[in-house]
Amino acid sequence: MTATPAGNRRTLLCADAVLPMTPGDPVITDGAVLVSGDTIEAVGPRSQLEQQAPDAEGREYGRAVLMPGLINTHSHSGLLRGTAEELPVWEWLQQYIDPMHRVLRPDEAETASWLCYAESLLAGTTTSVDMWRYMAGSARAAEQLGNRVVMVPYVGEAEGHDYFDTLDDNERLLDQWHGGAGGRVQVWVGLEHQSYATPAACRRAVALSHHFQTGLHTHSNEAEIERAESLRLHGISPIRALEKLGLLSPERVLLAHCVWLDDDEIRALADYNVGVAHNPCSNMKLASGSAPVEAMIEAGIAVGIGTDGEKENNNLDMFEEMKFASLLAKLRNMDASAWRSWDVLRAATIEGARALGMAHQIGSLEPGKQADIIAVKADTPRMTPFIPSGPLQNLHYNLVHSTLGGDVAMTMVAGRIVTENQVLLSGDLPAYIDEANAAAVRLLTRRDDWLASQKEVTSLA
Ligand SMILES: [Zn+2]
Repeated sequence: MTATPAGNRRTLLCADAVLPMTPGDPVITDGAVLVSGDTIEAVGPRSQLEQQAPDAEGREYGRAVLMPGLINTHSHSGLLRGTAEELPVWEWLQQYIDPMHRVLRPDEAETASWLCYAESLLAGTTTSVDMWRYMAGSARAAEQLGNRVVMVPYVGEAEGHDYFDTLDDNERLLDQWHGGAGGRVQVWVGLEHQSYATPAACRRAVALSHHFQTGLHTHSNEAEIERAESLRLHGISPIRALEKLGLLSPERVLLAHCVWLDDDEIRALADYNVGVAHNPCSNMKLASGSAPVEAMIEAGIAVGIGTDGEKENNNLDMFEEMKFASLLAKLRNMDASAWRSWDVLRAATIEGARALGMAHQIGSLEPGKQADIIAVKADTPRMTPFIPSGPLQNLHYNLVHSTLGGDVAMTMVAGRIVTENQVLLSGDLPAYIDEANAAAVRLLTRRDDWLASQKEVTSLA
């Protein structure tokens, strides 16, 4: 089986329910989406669209839901799944993650992206923000596999953090890949964390984002200790520190986590039109805390949902992430009605697009937008009863709380079908899994060797 090339031909996707994720949360029963080339031409009742495009190739999904592909606003390619467990975030970084970055090789970084992009597509994620290393390899993976990706290098430019990618690497990637793969690959400016960069490097990062008219992405306000350190060292909150360094000034800024925020910081994020990636699984797993999502949304901030990496989660399943987002909000507020399911679905689609400054292009099924569409099976025990509309409508609740990524029957990106019936059509998944298993052993062995060498240095000193 090969992936369907987009071309300019027209395809009519039909299913028992279509969720356009447009204002008012409509559901079109017995609906259809007409795709022309890489673009959505029309969305509506099946009978109407069949008349409109009698020549289109029909694809019938039956008892299923057609909806926009999910947008993962914060992730990392990686090979450490299940090998970095049970430590709070700061110790976890020092013991597991930063030593891995010291020894990571470009071929291993590329192997990780092939694996993670395949995993994402199979689970219905059509767009990912990926903060990773040596990302020319990631771009090659995205070009072939067909996903949409915002590539953000992990940049460190300060003493003690010089083993990360550099701003020179970031600039080279911008030159080579920004707008690549027919526009599916975007490159932003990345910083691992503002404390991993000197003030001069921060200024250069901002200048690069202005020069290339692109966004900037970093982690912020993740752990309570990070906030305490900012106050101790600089006498200001982390968000005001970002502001002082100029890092809120690019036209599009996306911050991951934003767990520990005060009211002044929430106002600043809204004033600068900063987008936020909320990562509930990661925040629970690393015991970081519970982000004030409701207060951010009330302030007008675009809040998307992200899985974070394989090492913080341990999967890249945005359906599962929606469930955790919903449940964490209910627990945080001790209110079973907190974060309505429609709003959680919006965070994983159109609000995620807004957080990336891409809402004109993706995030909903509307004529003129990119054809990033998934079909979700509803003929399964966990989606029964299937009530897409009417007074007993349960579809939105079950998409958030019942569905898993493995229920995705079809993933289309830019008009090209890249997975069908949980088979990756655009690449060789068994080969990527074999390569990732081999690469992970090499990487973990070198990480252990490096950690052992540090112990020797310490004991000699
Ligand atoms: Zn992260």
